Amino acid sequence: MAPTLWALLVAAGVAVPVWALWQAPDGAHRGVWRVVSLVAALGAASLLVLTFLLPSRFRPLTGYLGVERLLRSHRALALAAVGLVVLHVVTVVVRPGPGLGILDLRTAPPRVWAASVATVALLALVGLGVSRRRRRPRYEGWRLGHVILANVALLATTLHVLWLGDLTRFAVARAWFVGLATLMVGALALRWVWRPLRSLRHRYVVDEVRRASPTAVTLVLHATGHGGLEFRPGQFAWLKIGTSPFVFEEHPFTIASAATEPWRKEFTIKGVGDFSELVAGLKPGRHVFLDGPHGAFTLDGLTSDRFVLIAGGVGITPMLSMLRTLAARHDPRPVLLFVAGRTADDLLHRADGEHLEESLDLQVVEILEEPDDGWEGEVGRFTRETLERSLPRIRRRERVDVFVCGPGPMVAAATRIVSDRGIPGSRIHTELFDVV
Ligand SMILES: Cc1cc2nc3c(=O)[nH]c(=O)nc-3n(C[C@H](O)[C@H](O)[C@H](O)COP(=O)(O)OP(=O)(O)OC[C@H]3O[C@@H](n4cnc5c(N)ncnc54)[C@H](O)[C@@H]3O)c2cc1C
Repeated sequence: MAPTLWALLVAAGVAVPVWALWQAPDGAHRGVWRVVSLVAALGAASLLVLTFLLPSRFRPLTGYLGVERLLRSHRALALAAVGLVVLHVVTVVVRPGPGLGILDLRTAPPRVWAASVATVALLALVGLGVSRRRRRPRYEGWRLGHVILANVALLATTLHVLWLGDLTRFAVARAWFVGLATLMVGALALRWVWRPLRSLRHRYVVDEVRRASPTAVTLVLHATGHGGLEFRPGQFAWLKIGTSPFVFEEHPFTIASAATEPWRKEFTIKGVGDFSELVAGLKPGRHVFLDGPHGAFTLDGLTSDRFVLIAGGVGITPMLSMLRTLAARHDPRPVLLFVAGRTADDLLHRADGEHLEESLDLQVVEILEEPDDGWEGEVGRFTRETLERSLPRIRRRERVDVFVCGPGPMVAAATRIVSDRGIPGSRIHTELFDVV
């Protein structure tokens, strides 16, 4: 969503209750400090609810924004909300009145306790975010801490507003508050009740787990009791292994099979930790749960004349789905696929011995950093020259859509290269597997 739209939503979310409180007959909410404090508090509340809504798996939103933009917006809104909370606390302390004494928790009323808990939880969330980037703690533990702190912050904020009483005294402000609370409860219900229930109704059974390379497996599932969840090629789903879809642990994997066969879903998964190792050991007949499809990394709906796909390592999975889908649809448009890896084991598109070139106008360029003797493909990394050699000319008015998926540095470098080649940003699509 465009930043201006976010800004408008938040501005409206702040302006309405400020206007309502300004009308208070006792004039209690007039004066510079009061207004600054109120605008900061209401802005923070609106932003917090938006921050909370983004990862709630509302599919029109995840399908529109995509996982990368969604998480970037989530972080930016959260930081802005924390900034406004700090401003609110500062204005409460410096404005004429009890000053710092208001923060003395020994004598503080419940509303101040609630505000203090919310502020500490929010600051702890920022600390947790920083620790994720710097120290890379185990993801599942980190995520649990994040979810608990976020819910504590929201609950304490709600109690602060209720105990303060100001916002619930006037009809318009009350309507605003009830609106935000409804959005929050709706997001919680969607994320933790509705989506697991949907996964329960749309179970999948393991058909097979086969080796795709020494470090990756291909998991094949089929839908049981339903026709399979429709998806667009390039989208991903959250995989849960357990007796119920209400388990906390779940991991995102891109659906690598053709979108024309929604009842059959294939994932190629690289062994990097506990969960991916667990997948490698799954036995045929085992039930698993999927939450999806999600994501905006797809070629469906684009008006393209040609596609360029650039994959690094296991980043080939969305490209496999795109190629298999284009082949099944007998799509005549030319596709140029770059596959980069360290050794030949990373060329996962070869794993099934498919000959997609036979049913597509497909050119494949393989690039290895450490090839074996006798290697005839490109050597090194994806560079400007690699692109020039395979795509020497783009016709005027030709609409070329480029998809890049792989490790962060590779995605950044490839994006720069295709952008320098004159492809507009709106036609460069990226997906990162290590976004969190
Ligand atoms: C949109 C998307 C699509 C993906 N598609 C594929 C794919 O097709 N094939 C593939 O092999 N990998 C894919 N991944 C990466 C995959 O999700 C992680 O490798 C996997 O979750 C690792 O879990 P683990 O327990 O095996 O390893 P861990 O050691 O627990 O995790 C390794 C890293 O994976 C990431 N990760 C772990 N758990 C999660 C989680 N629940 N949510 C988000 N990220 C997590 C974190 O960055 C973590 O540091 C995708 C990731 C994303 C975001």
